[in-house]
Amino acid sequence: MSSFVRALERGREMESKTVPGPILLLGAPGVGKGTQARELVKIWGIPQISTGDLLRANVARGTSVGKVAKEIMQRGELVPDSLVDEMVALRLQQPDTANGYILDGFPRTLGQADWLDGRVAAKPDSLPVIAVSINVDYNQLLRRICGRRNCPVCQTIYNVYVNPPKQPGICDVEGAALVQRADDTEEVFKERMRAYGALTKPVVDHYRDLGRFAEVDGDRPIGVIAAGIVAAVERLRQ
Ligand code: AMP
Repeated sequence: MSSFVRALERGREMESKTVPGPILLLGAPGVGKGTQARELVKIWGIPQISTGDLLRANVARGTSVGKVAKEIMQRGELVPDSLVDEMVALRLQQPDTANGYILDGFPRTLGQADWLDGRVAAKPDSLPVIAVSINVDYNQLLRRICGRRNCPVCQTIYNVYVNPPKQPGICDVEGAALVQRADDTEEVFKERMRAYGALTKPVVDHYRDLGRFAEVDGDRPIGVIAAGIVAAVERLRQ
């Protein structure tokens, strides 16, 4: 049996054994946090909470949060902690988070990490947070970000270089015209990487220092990365 198949099977085994608790997916823009979060949702049956998706939904609905966030996001900068924390707090009140949740793109600052740690510690029945950082090198990320296209209907993610749709610009599943995120340009990518290095790298160090931390190589097939994350979480939960 190939290591790939074994890895996938190991991922599935975890489904019934591990209560995952709160899991944070950390990593630079384009490492595949969203893709991995969706894989882990299938394995563990807990929700994905993506602050980027929540913010984009607020922008699309024209809410007061969306009005503040829109231009900040277009520049590739970070939305103020207070707004993002509040959005996450509301989402964490939903009952589907009882056995755990996958935070994708949060916390991105030490302030957000402190807020989250405090919130989790205040819930006596909650398991502690586990952070997993997905690592991919800079040039690979640039290609992933600038080539990324999404289906606006089913959210399938394509890449014009490495995972193109059968017909250019058209979703294989829905037949809808694919769209590019406004912040998926080289210029904005550079600003997002700068924000990551200055503000989010310290969050990675914070969870590494606490010892509830794992790193996975994000330059591998999707199922293998997911299995690596599941194995790391299982180890850290023992
Ligand atoms: P993402 O989809 O995670 O790449 O996020 C897209 C953009 O949303 C980021 O470049 C930020 O402008 C904003 N954003 C997402 N999550 C956060 C967060 N936790 N804190 C601040 N800004 C965020």
